[in-house]
Amino acid sequence: MNYENLSGNWNYPNSIRAGAGRISELAECCKALGMQAPLLITDPGLAALPMVAEAEAQCRAAGLRIGLFSEIKGNPTGRNVDDGLVAYRAGKHDGVIAFGGGSALDAAKAVALMAGQTLELWDFEDVGDNWTRVNAEGVAPIVAVPTTAGTGSEVGRASVITDDAQHIKKIIFHPKMLPGIVILDPVLTVGLPPKVTAATGMDALSHNLEALCSPFWHPMAEGIANEGIRLVHDYLPRAVADGQDLEARMQMIVASSMGATAFQKGLGGMHALAHPLGALFDAHHGMLNAILMPYVLKANREVICERIERSARYIGLADTSFEGFLDWVLQLRAQVGIPHSLGEIGIDASQLEKIGRMAVADPSAGGNPIQFSAEQYSALCGRAIRGEL
Ligand SMILES: [Zn+2]
Repeated sequence: MNYENLSGNWNYPNSIRAGAGRISELAECCKALGMQAPLLITDPGLAALPMVAEAEAQCRAAGLRIGLFSEIKGNPTGRNVDDGLVAYRAGKHDGVIAFGGGSALDAAKAVALMAGQTLELWDFEDVGDNWTRVNAEGVAPIVAVPTTAGTGSEVGRASVITDDAQHIKKIIFHPKMLPGIVILDPVLTVGLPPKVTAATGMDALSHNLEALCSPFWHPMAEGIANEGIRLVHDYLPRAVADGQDLEARMQMIVASSMGATAFQKGLGGMHALAHPLGALFDAHHGMLNAILMPYVLKANREVICERIERSARYIGLADTSFEGFLDWVLQLRAQVGIPHSLGEIGIDASQLEKIGRMAVADPSAGGNPIQFSAEQYSALCGRAIRGEL
């Protein structure tokens, strides 16, 4: 299919405008949500690129008073959110454009949440019914524009923010953190280097896979997850091999949104380990999930075998056994240049015990099909560090 035919307006799970070149609708989207003075929140790397300057120029030309905030780390921190909030209030903004990869989108969604709150960010950590403490009227409207295809944060109702003091990744949740409008424009992703395309694309795969394997009953999410896995199977190698392949880029950005839509069903052991590893080693989230993927799948084998074999049939593998699926994951990982062990990206075994404890306490652990103990997570992580599948 030609990428020019890949265009659509969807209302599932939120309002999505998908298609090449649709960033041209940004100012219109801001106005549709009632914004006159949006704050565009992005990361420092993107802030220097023409695509951000063009987005600002488009909004100004449409009569919007736009501001820019870009002091965001790769794994956004509570301090980043506080700083963004200061910029939001100083500029008297009335909405947020969340523009960038997962880090920028998560930070921007948290700033929008905090715009009209009197409590602190950590009071809204996704524990129990903390989210009901939020003054819902005070949540600013959000237009989300992902520039990577991985996290799917544009269709999610939560942000992952690192508590700087405790070096813990915390999930901040509120239903109104779901962006009002999303623009999925593959043109914004063509400049991503192959390594980033690979790591973010594998994050999208991990979301679809963990959602598929999570034990909760949610057939809608399961259907989405299987198609998301198929899109990664068909298009991630193409997007990595040729960054200009707009059809592959379009399909991957949709696969990413699908992964995050599906993981309302739950995540699992990959994310339970990737969160502490990201907080302790400041490593790339997608890269961590990509490396951990086969180890976690294998550890869950007896419980997930049937669904994995169903998925193997659906995506058209020649060998539709669990082992055939695992072989495909290993081959895909190698093909897109992901290392086989955590040791290869500089993660050592010095904090294994702590990692195990943090993994079992991570909110994602509840979605793993087997409730591993801290010791089991430590052992699993140790195998991934050494490369012993
Ligand atoms: Zn993820």
